[in-house]
Amino acid sequence: MKTLIKNATIVTSTAEYTGNLLIADGKIQAISKDASYDADETIDAEGKWLMPGAIDPHVHLEMPFMGTYSSDDYASGTLAALHGGTTTVIDFILQTQGDTLANALKSWRSRSDDRCYCDYSFHMAVTDFNDNVAEEVKHFIENEGITSFKTFMAYKGALMLDDGQMTALMKVVSKNGGMVTVHATNGDVIDNLIAKHKSEGKLAPLYHYLSQPEVTEAEASSRFCDLAHYADVPAYIVHMTCEGAVEAIRKSYHRNQIVQGETCIQYLSLDASLYEKNFEGAKWVMSPPLREKKDQEYLWSAINQGIINVVATDHCPFTWEKKLLGKDDFSKIPNGHPAIEHRVELLYSEGVAKGKISKQKMVEVLSTNPARIFGLAPQKGDIAIGADADLVIFNPNKKHTLSAKTHHMNVDYSCYEGWEVTGKCETVFLRGKKVIDKGEALIKPGFGEYQKRSKVSWKRS
Ligand SMILES: [Zn+2]
Repeated sequence: MKTLIKNATIVTSTAEYTGNLLIADGKIQAISKDASYDADETIDAEGKWLMPGAIDPHVHLEMPFMGTYSSDDYASGTLAALHGGTTTVIDFILQTQGDTLANALKSWRSRSDDRCYCDYSFHMAVTDFNDNVAEEVKHFIENEGITSFKTFMAYKGALMLDDGQMTALMKVVSKNGGMVTVHATNGDVIDNLIAKHKSEGKLAPLYHYLSQPEVTEAEASSRFCDLAHYADVPAYIVHMTCEGAVEAIRKSYHRNQIVQGETCIQYLSLDASLYEKNFEGAKWVMSPPLREKKDQEYLWSAINQGIINVVATDHCPFTWEKKLLGKDDFSKIPNGHPAIEHRVELLYSEGVAKGKISKQKMVEVLSTNPARIFGLAPQKGDIAIGADADLVIFNPNKKHTLSAKTHHMNVDYSCYEGWEVTGKCETVFLRGKKVIDKGEALIKPGFGEYQKRSKVSWKRS
């Protein structure tokens, strides 16, 4: 089966030109500005853009939580991803403290395998580090294609490593060719503020926000950069939200240290005033919380300066019924927000269409950088001969409205209800197969393939 996409405006992280692209055997076989090719199917994409499929390296599907799971499973979540132009996701496996990484992998793959619509991979969150886990880290990098290991500097007693364990993990990961990613917030300070607010009877969602001030993220980000430098490990900070955290990365540049930074679409497009909506604010309860308008401007500029390298989602939806668990106590509201479907269109609409970033920068932070950083390149993340034909035909002029009535995510509200966005992912290809066309899914669950990732290639010498 050969497919020709002709007259498209081909947009990559470095270029933009009108051309014809031939897909064969699941790969991009040829690209030309004027030559045409024989094909079984020809699509005329005049006036539309052809971009690499987006990669979301921060999602939590069917994540165990308080006796339940995040409400998108691997089928519904990956289908919603495809509708929004995301062709590969990287989810997080969570080690149970006292148990092995191998058991955690088995548990996560039992839920995900044969169910995904888009391609998928995993990071491993190490929550309990010891000699046995050190051996497992080596095995995961060499044999399982899992090369990124997440640590939590918060959630003591469940997920957090102390600084000694975290540094020991960094050294083992570095030696074996992997990278360490981090949830960088100061858990002790946050726990203290949560207890203080509760003791004062301050129980509304607003106090979730007020329990995680900017300093808790800035301090932990700075400490993480220092320890990563000491351990000489390739490092990446997830879901950065604010000026203070980004400054921690900028300050590491004086020692020529590479720390990659990620933000998420909600931190660019929403702000903390939503927590003043009484309990409705629970929709946006996530950690770290939404920040101030000044932080949004700061994040956009950090993207342009190359300090923030990736825009992800931290997609972790809970239905309204589950959010109500925290009706009388903000600390019991399940943390997380649905966005896997809207990242590409929101980044275009809020970023490119409003002149904040270029379209090349958009492709870079949605596709090319995640592929390069997490070892999915050169098969994914770019429009190049020989790469997987993961492609999006994007209509930059089409306006539409985001709503829980029309989204494909398994959650009964939208955090962007009624937002009019410009730009629509109209047709999506995954490994050469047309998987979404004008809102219709053309594949079944299980089409998505597990992706083994390569060792880190971007560590400084
Ligand atoms: Zn997360």
